[in-house]
Amino acid sequence: MAESALHLVSNNKYDFNKKLRENNIDLPPLSIDTLQVNVTLKCNQACLHCHVDASPKRTEQMNKVTVDKCLEILKDNSQINTLDITGGAPELNPYFDYFVLEAKKLGKHVMVRHNLTVILDGDPLTGESKSYLPKFYAENEVEVISSLPYYQEYFTDKQRGKGVFQKSVDSLRMLNEVGYGNEESNLILDLVYNPVGAFLPASQESLEKDFKKELWKNFQIKFNNLYTITNMPIHRFKEQLERQGTYEDYMEKLINAFNPVAADGVMCRSLLSVSYDGKIYDCDFNQMLDMQVFTNKPMTVFNFDFQKLVKRDIIFDSHCFGCTAGSGSSCGGAISE
Ligand code: SF4
Ligand code: SF4
Repeated sequence: MAESALHLVSNNKYDFNKKLRENNIDLPPLSIDTLQVNVTLKCNQACLHCHVDASPKRTEQMNKVTVDKCLEILKDNSQINTLDITGGAPELNPYFDYFVLEAKKLGKHVMVRHNLTVILDGDPLTGESKSYLPKFYAENEVEVISSLPYYQEYFTDKQRGKGVFQKSVDSLRMLNEVGYGNEESNLILDLVYNPVGAFLPASQESLEKDFKKELWKNFQIKFNNLYTITNMPIHRFKEQLERQGTYEDYMEKLINAFNPVAADGVMCRSLLSVSYDGKIYDCDFNQMLDMQVFTNKPMTVFNFDFQKLVKRDIIFDSHCFGCTAGSGSSCGGAISE
């Protein structure tokens, strides 16, 4: 039995594949238009809900050989038009700037999952400043996607640590100053909301209106889009639920809210995720659960084969209920709103 098939029958208690069968849903890949690359697990923060378990103590980083291999894949495969760089705080990888600049030279759209505070905190170990980032992003027209759990200090600090809200506000102002979030400019600044607790996000459209109104009224901050993301029941968030004795309730909530329309649009159907050591996964969550893509062998950037990968079996498991609950959840926010 192929390794992927082994994953398909795992964890029967919350059987995602059974749910798909019951709803006559088949989810093969549709395309590969985005390469999402995790370049480091190091972060200047250690948020409660972090599904990659990032923190200042993590040392895992993508090396230059692997960065160059990702660039070669982007160059050789014109169908992959977007590079989505994530972490940890991706800017803490020493080859981050190089990666952005080279991908732009290839004509790719570059997105960065940016935590805002790294601009002010810099590198937690070396003390290296990262205050050049707003200008660097603007010069290279990088789309910036930043987490802000809420527009109020109490809820944001509760999830991301004391002082994070104020630093995030200061960094958002710096991004606005170089042109981000201004509707007349082509510099896109998106915010990501995730619930501070074991519940599903409210409507993305209404939350975006609230965030825009409150951030402008209180801090004169502008941004383009708000994406709502469901907290995935894995790693740090799962451990927190288990400590509180609410893991099973949360899973039931996700399962009861299963939405076939959201299932149809799950991001793994058009994206590949790459780990710092070059392994290939269906998404960031499968990466964190070490569920590597397997065709006739485990796939990495070093044996990349577009045709095989676009025909692969996506590995689904219980955590996938987090992507298909309610309006759905992806790196680009709600799926079916
Ligand atoms: S800022 Fe992002 S990567 Fe860093 S710990 Fe928080 S959630 Fe994880
Ligand atoms: S967690 Fe979501 S994106 Fe990842 S494989 Fe499951 S459904 Fe697809």
